[in-house]
Amino acid sequence: MENIKTPAKLLKEKLTADSKNAGLRLSDTEIDKAFDFCEGYKAFLDAGKTEREAAQYAVALAEKNGFIPFEPGKKYQAGDKVYSVNRGKAVILAVIGSEPIEKGVKLSVAHIDSPRLDLKPNPLYEDAELALCKTHYYGGIKKYQWAALPLSLHGVIVKANGETVSVRIGEEENDPVFCVTDLLPHLAGDQMKRTLQEGIRGEELNIMVGSMPFKDDAESELVKLNILRILHEKYGIVESDFLSAELEAVPAQKARDIGFDRGMIGAYGQDDRVCAYTALKATMDCISPRTTVVTVLTDKEEIGSDGNTGLNSAYFKYFIADLAAPYGVPARTVLSNTRCLSADVNAAFDPTFPEVHEKKNASFVNKGIVVTKYTGARGKSGTSDASAEFMGYVRRMLDREHIVWQTGELGKVDQGGGGTVAVYLAALNIDVIDVGVPVLSMHAPFELTGKLDVYMAYRAFLAFYSE
Ligand code: MN
Ligand code: MN
Repeated sequence: MENIKTPAKLLKEKLTADSKNAGLRLSDTEIDKAFDFCEGYKAFLDAGKTEREAAQYAVALAEKNGFIPFEPGKKYQAGDKVYSVNRGKAVILAVIGSEPIEKGVKLSVAHIDSPRLDLKPNPLYEDAELALCKTHYYGGIKKYQWAALPLSLHGVIVKANGETVSVRIGEEENDPVFCVTDLLPHLAGDQMKRTLQEGIRGEELNIMVGSMPFKDDAESELVKLNILRILHEKYGIVESDFLSAELEAVPAQKARDIGFDRGMIGAYGQDDRVCAYTALKATMDCISPRTTVVTVLTDKEEIGSDGNTGLNSAYFKYFIADLAAPYGVPARTVLSNTRCLSADVNAAFDPTFPEVHEKKNASFVNKGIVVTKYTGARGKSGTSDASAEFMGYVRRMLDREHIVWQTGELGKVDQGGGGTVAVYLAALNIDVIDVGVPVLSMHAPFELTGKLDVYMAYRAFLAFYSE
């Protein structure tokens, strides 16, 4: 009796959407593959905590897979693999297709910058015989989350003589780490009355960097002097070299599995390195595509995509122009025929804060890659709003390849909102839609993703590139 399907059940199967968890839809073999895939993803997260480090990782992986530096003006053959780096912070990778370039390219764009604390140009000071560094936060953070947390320091310092020194301290087991202090509850009576937004203020995000004085009775500010001595010995720098430095404080902890079942990953910077890694891996695994494949790992998304390494810069458009020029094809022809997955994370439904989501249109952890027709705020302001036709194309592609996917809006109408780089791609007359992985605690020092969603994102990019 239990195997007989009633007419209502049959009709329901025919007419209503399947929103089953990927854990129920995927075979055990596929689930094992997803878990294995995420081991590589965790290693990427630990190796690439800043845009510069993620760009370096991408280039090293690409070179290992036979990619060579792109030369503008050169005619490439089908199957050739090239990359181009923009100022060490953004990378474009391309696999040349068998079709002529005027047919457009298959494009995916993800960003490799994440919210963090940047050191100010004059960061170092001493107060109460402690040495601290002033910071200016980068991207949208809840400032109170960044206190009382081990931080590592990453970046570059350009010395007066032009030499560049790389810094990466706080990641190795025996490295020291840094920290923004917070007030003890016993004395926090006034602080606790502040709004959450003001819990820790911008000018309170000061990083503790030292406490030991240089041994000399005659001078003042001996703790700061001692830090300068250590920095001079280690990096050969003097205080004024901070003026030409980019030093970024990020959470020092490594990526970890979350939960008894290890089904999720907790790590810093998954927005948007989760899409960067999955798109990068798909680019490496895409063999002899029909349409030319282009993957962009861009910078500056978290501060509005401005700056010459952000997608609002012309660097991507120039790359397409350089790629097409040897064939006498104008960039606008290539761009107008290009299809793009704007690859960025979405807010996963959080059962602890259900009130901000509209459950019928929210994305859920482990229900697959999220396809988002539009983002924006207040009546779809600041979005590209993909066409039904392009949404239909993406949907058919995902279903054909049995990729578990879902749709998701960023929260309830008028709850807030946000945008992605999709608007800058749409401005180039590209067909573009947002896809990505649902994230819990987005922009927090420790963000959560589901392993099945991470793997589905990889499979979606590969399917898009391979068809
Ligand atoms: Mn993002
Ligand atoms: Mn973000």
